[in-house]
Amino acid sequence: KWVLYGTEVVERDKVSIDLEDRGYNFGDGIYEVISIHGGKPFALRPHFLRFVESARKMQIALPCKWEDIAMSVEELLRKTGVQDGIVYIQMTRGVSQRNHVYTHKEQAVITGFARSTSSMEEEQTNGMACFVTEDLRWLRCDIKSLNLLGNIMAKRQAADEGCQEAILHRQWQCTEGSASNVFIVKNGIVYTHEANHYILNGITRQYVLSLAQKLNITVREEAFSLAALERADEVFCTSTSLEVAPVVEVKGDIQATYEIGQVTKTLQQALQQVLFEEVNA
Ligand code: PLP
Repeated sequence: KWVLYGTEVVERDKVSIDLEDRGYNFGDGIYEVISIHGGKPFALRPHFLRFVESARKMQIALPCKWEDIAMSVEELLRKTGVQDGIVYIQMTRGVSQRNHVYTHKEQAVITGFARSTSSMEEEQTNGMACFVTEDLRWLRCDIKSLNLLGNIMAKRQAADEGCQEAILHRQWQCTEGSASNVFIVKNGIVYTHEANHYILNGITRQYVLSLAQKLNITVREEAFSLAALERADEVFCTSTSLEVAPVVEVKGDIQATYEIGQVTKTLQQALQQVLFEEVNA
């Protein structure tokens, strides 16, 4: 019933979105997904910093301080009473007569909702099957843009093949998942694509990288090949909703099966610990 509209928490039927909102016409906007544990948001600040960064890269002017949106998110959580789930926040460039050229005069439109989500325990405990397919997206995947056609098409294809996630590759290099970052482990070394324009620098990815460093696990932030994925000792995906989820099988452009290994389990537990500590702080 309660949703975010600008920096207000209002009843859903009080929100009206214009037919010529550029988010609706062009997918001209950005978003964030933040996880909620025991009624508290996890990693709120890093998510908002990325939100601000996506806005800057797209030249969308924030209509208020991000701290004001963050405060409304807290209010949204109080009003909805969501305990375990997600908050979704999006900002479109706003309304103007349909024209590719934006004028910098549009007023950004912010909306959002909180929702309970089902647990990812099954994926986290037993692992996922992933469908390996070509990365058909644009070249600014570092922006958390509303344009997700390449992602949703890959995810649908994965689901049709009985997989929980898609792993994308450009020519022979793996980039990321359709809605997650992908890591492989070989001889105790963790590899994940460097944070450049080919991937979204996941907040969970960043947590996992800093945890690996603390745990003296060697990480190489560099693109790995399909052949390396095929020969990996362990594979896992990270995202806000998956946290650390082992991959036990890949199919599609390559086929392989994996055990759920010690490095994956260690990082999964370490992240759960940080998450627990931060939301209970
Ligand atoms: N990569 C893509 C394409 C995503 O859509 C997501 C999350 O939805 C991620 C990576 C993981 O990001 P985060 O850990 O911030 O949720």
